[in-house]
Amino acid sequence: MTKLIIALGLLALMVPSVANAHGGGCRKSSPPGQCCHMDNSTGVVHCH
Ligand SMILES: [Zn+2]
Repeated sequence: MTKLIIALGLLALMVPSVANAHGGGCRKSSPPGQCCHMDNSTGVVHCH
Protein backbone atom coordinates (compact mmCIF):
# COMPACT_ATOMS: atom_id res chain seq x y z
CA MET A 1 0.00 0.00 0.00
CA THR A 2 2.82 2.36 0.82
CA LYS A 3 4.35 1.81 -2.61
CA LEU A 4 1.07 2.78 -4.23
CA ILE A 5 0.95 6.05 -2.31
CA ILE A 6 4.54 6.82 -3.27
CA ALA A 7 3.79 6.03 -6.91
CA LEU A 8 0.77 8.33 -6.91
CA GLY A 9 2.81 11.06 -5.23
CA LEU A 10 5.52 10.84 -7.87
CA LEU A 11 2.92 10.89 -10.62
CA ALA A 12 1.31 14.00 -9.15
CA LEU A 13 4.72 15.68 -9.09
CA MET A 14 5.55 14.67 -12.65
CA VAL A 15 2.35 15.75 -14.40
CA PRO A 16 2.68 19.49 -13.76
CA SER A 17 6.34 19.43 -14.74
CA VAL A 18 5.39 17.90 -18.09
CA ALA A 19 2.69 20.50 -18.63
CA ASN A 20 5.22 23.24 -17.98
CA ALA A 21 8.11 21.47 -19.64
CA HIS A 22 9.47 24.65 -21.13
CA GLY A 23 7.71 27.13 -18.89
CA GLY A 24 7.68 30.81 -19.66
CA GLY A 25 4.72 33.00 -20.40
CA CYS A 26 2.58 33.30 -23.49
CA ARG A 27 3.59 35.75 -26.16
CA LYS A 28 1.33 38.77 -26.52
CA SER A 29 0.89 37.86 -30.19
CA SER A 30 -0.55 34.47 -29.28
CA PRO A 31 -3.90 33.81 -30.97
CA PRO A 32 -6.92 33.46 -28.67
CA GLY A 33 -7.02 30.10 -26.98
CA GLN A 34 -3.40 29.42 -27.81
CA CYS A 35 -0.17 30.02 -26.00
CA CYS A 36 2.86 30.67 -28.16
CA HIS A 37 6.27 30.73 -26.64
CA MET A 38 9.91 29.96 -27.21
CA ASP A 39 11.07 26.47 -26.42
CA ASN A 40 14.33 27.21 -24.67
CA SER A 41 15.81 23.82 -25.53
CA THR A 42 15.28 24.17 -29.28
CA GLY A 43 14.94 27.93 -29.74
CA VAL A 44 11.77 27.36 -31.75
CA VAL A 45 8.56 29.27 -31.14
CA HIS A 46 5.48 27.11 -31.10
CA CYS A 47 1.87 27.28 -29.94
CA HIS A 48 -0.27 24.88 -28.05
ZN1 LIG B 1 5.41 24.79 -25.60
